[in-house]
Amino acid sequence: MTTAQAQRIAAKHHPRRIALFGGSFDPIHSGHLAVARAADRRFNFDEIHFVPASRPPHKLKQHLAPFPHRFAMVALALTEHPHFVPSVAEAGEDFSGAQLHYSVDTVRYFRHAYHGHGDRIYFIVGADAFLDIPMWKEYEALLGLCDFIVANRPGIRAEALRLVIPPELMGRDGKRKDSEAVHESSVVAHLYRTSVYLLENVASEVSATDIRRRAHRGQSIHGLVTSRVEEYILKQGLYR
Ligand code: ATP
Repeated sequence: MTTAQAQRIAAKHHPRRIALFGGSFDPIHSGHLAVARAADRRFNFDEIHFVPASRPPHKLKQHLAPFPHRFAMVALALTEHPHFVPSVAEAGEDFSGAQLHYSVDTVRYFRHAYHGHGDRIYFIVGADAFLDIPMWKEYEALLGLCDFIVANRPGIRAEALRLVIPPELMGRDGKRKDSEAVHESSVVAHLYRTSVYLLENVASEVSATDIRRRAHRGQSIHGLVTSRVEEYILKQGLYR
């Protein structure tokens, strides 16, 4: 590529806002989709990548549905959303999802893939998961690699979220100079290069644990997952 070509491409490039939403998605449910839609309304993403976790390090002991099933359900749940993307970032080379992946590496992978001028990566996470972040690999580095959008969950207070961020990582004094189109009142913290935002009023009681329990007991899961996902769970006999 010549310098002129590169400059033309750079001039045309509009900065993209890319969100990553990771989870075990066992199965993906209406709570996840409500969070993604609310985040999308507020931050206006170009793409939201739903990343089914390989084997989440904190859920090693828990039995998880095989990766291909969890991925299939994510793909089925996203069909109506043109810029919601099912991601195989943690599938591994053989697509088995058997290998352990860490969020910090996944974020680095996306930063490498989206490195255009002004592109920004956001990590969507539930408040319960954010409270566990000190257990994550290289979490201090991770907090500096991308912005976080924390969806509140019943019973978790905003102040608790701030407490898990090491004070020495806090950067600016709450004033952002760039033109973020987000309301300052929902900023949990500004770090040196990144920010942690709180997404309020999205908390729902839906959890994957409850859905698995219901399916196991033969109870209806109608309305808790999309109809395609419900059909898939029934056809594959998952969670029985
Ligand atoms: P499980 O019940 O198996 O622990 P889960 O319902 O919490 O699962 P995960 O796949 O572990 O679902 O969640 C992925 C992410 O979505 C996590 O960050 C989690 O906090 C968040 N999340 C899940 N359900 C909700 C909900 N109802 N409201 C807000 N955030 C949620």
